[in-house]
Amino acid sequence: MKKEKIWLSSPHMNGNEQKYVQEAFETNWVAPLGPNVNGFEKDIQDYLGQDVHVAALSSGTAALHLALKLAGVSQGDFVLCQSMTFAASANPITYQGATPVFIDSEPDTWNMSPELLEEAIIDLSKKGKKPKAIIVVHLYGMPAKINEIMAIAQKYDIPVIEDAAESLGSHVNGQMTGTFGDYGILSFNGNKIITTSGGGALITKTEEDKQKAIFWATQARDQAPHYQHSEIGYNYRMSNIVAGIGRGQMEVIQERVKARRKNFEFYKEVVKNTPLKVAPQEPEGFFSNRWLTTILTPSFETREKLRLALAAENIESRPLWKPMHLQPVFKAAPAYINGISEELFEKGLCLPSGSNLTDEDRFRIKKVIFKHPLT
Ligand SMILES: *Cc1c(COP(=O)(O)O)cnc(C)c1O
Repeated sequence: MKKEKIWLSSPHMNGNEQKYVQEAFETNWVAPLGPNVNGFEKDIQDYLGQDVHVAALSSGTAALHLALKLAGVSQGDFVLCQSMTFAASANPITYQGATPVFIDSEPDTWNMSPELLEEAIIDLSKKGKKPKAIIVVHLYGMPAKINEIMAIAQKYDIPVIEDAAESLGSHVNGQMTGTFGDYGILSFNGNKIITTSGGGALITKTEEDKQKAIFWATQARDQAPHYQHSEIGYNYRMSNIVAGIGRGQMEVIQERVKARRKNFEFYKEVVKNTPLKVAPQEPEGFFSNRWLTTILTPSFETREKLRLALAAENIESRPLWKPMHLQPVFKAAPAYINGISEELFEKGLCLPSGSNLTDEDRFRIKKVIFKHPLT
């Protein structure tokens, strides 16, 4: 008999989600607006602090797209984007007719290298292509060196969009990721630390930016009794049903962060006397939600052996994100590269990290790692 599948990261409901969804049905707020949407936005704002404003949207990708529009990115512009990430960080740049320019990682957090960022800004500016925005990602929940990146962005006066899709609950010196940049985005897709089945949010510094984003997200309707449009709009707003799931999930965000961090500690113990190592470590003042626990193996061959051994036991694991500058679809895009993301992609593996992993799941995973020849 085939063993039950252990997923990399699966939805983990708390039970109260259904209460909010039920309320939506009972009051007939079955639309992309209503009390759950407002309540969910407020829950996130309160959790993030820093007096941010939050707009609930249909996905994290939609939030990135609207953040780029708010930053003024349009046809022919250049946008600097972390190379080591999921394609959704970069795709919206092309929706705006702009060109992504990829920036490699630094070894401490695996996120955007501040040195390469500055090099790229100087180089592109010399060529008359000063970048219009910067997209930095907090990969796997580990915050990027955001203070350094903000300082560089301010020096050259370029807006920063923080892709915090994977890092809800992570912070640097107590300040939540997503609240440093001019704009931030969150994702509530099915595999994220909390989920609404599908959804996202845009974080802004002003109510005006939030309202402008909601205007675009609801088909850009001008004030008029009939349908009147003077701008192109989108259908990007979050539904009140989905937001009900989000409200239930926000009740347990702190527990979810704790559970993910416990997984990381578990793996750290498991790999202690093996050639594997859990990484990256948290720099001083950094706190990661450990959305996914990631390990480094000695070589590509070891990584593949381990991945296949886990798969044979019906345990899902996955190589780290393949850098964007190596993706066929972005092969023509300029890139500033130091080799770090390529090495991580070769040797790194994401391990099952759900907040709903059971002791039995952990036992099965541990057995494979112990049993397997790892060199
Ligand atoms: C999931 C994710 C997104 C996209 O979010 P969706 O809600 O799936 O559109 C963007 N960036 C990163 C880094 C992600 O992991």
